[in-house]
Amino acid sequence: LYVEPSLSAGEMRRIDGAQGHYLATVMRLRAGDPVKLFDDVTGEWLVVASEVRKRDVTLEVRELLREREVVPDLWLCAAPIKKGRIDWVVEKACELGVARVAPVLTRRAVVDKLNLDRLRAHMVEAAEQCGRTALPQLAEPVKLPALLRDWPAERALFFADESGGVPALDAMRARPGPAAILIGPEGGFDADERDTIRAVPQAVGVSLGPRILRAETAAAAAVSLWMGAAGD
Ligand code: SAM
Repeated sequence: LYVEPSLSAGEMRRIDGAQGHYLATVMRLRAGDPVKLFDDVTGEWLVVASEVRKRDVTLEVRELLREREVVPDLWLCAAPIKKGRIDWVVEKACELGVARVAPVLTRRAVVDKLNLDRLRAHMVEAAEQCGRTALPQLAEPVKLPALLRDWPAERALFFADESGGVPALDAMRARPGPAAILIGPEGGFDADERDTIRAVPQAVGVSLGPRILRAETAAAAAVSLWMGAAGD
């Protein structure tokens, strides 16, 4: 389970709310039972239940099991898509190991409002499920030109382009190091947006194959290819 603020050895940590209910009622924790918690600062800890009540538990923080992981330096910049699908993208991006998810607002997006709290909850749940010891950052949504303005010199920008480009795996192998993947909305990027993206010196148009993928499929495929190329 993810908790904040950060944990320290010997501390007694009371957990209430939804997590307290989960531990006490769903997991049926008993005094003396071990649990693993991570805090996104120090890492993952072994804690032992010392007192269990109906809706809250008190845990003794025992031992640091794993230091916070070093997260592969990949950002996923993706246009918002419909609710269930953006939730899926955020979940898979977290499982696959990205460092940051940055929603990017584009002209053809059918969705322009995002519930960041809901997305963050999905990220936390995915991180807990897949054993991450660090949460990805979730950036505030920004418009495409603002995202691309002053793009960091050291960060490659792999622009997933359904109209064709360098095969993504080749491009990613050729440009190791910090990177971002840019995925368009259901309707794709318009011509002006494509020009703006291509004007970024670090941008490389990449193809994910001859078929037009749904935005969420493109996001998961591109992130997987990058992780494979990086050995992460
Ligand atoms: N504009 C397209 C259309 O309506 O024909 C569809 C856009 S596609 C559903 C959504 C996004 O997924 C695209 O903007 C692109 O970033 C990415 N994408 C989909 N298929 C791709 C492919 N074969 N190669 C690279 N990117 C792809």
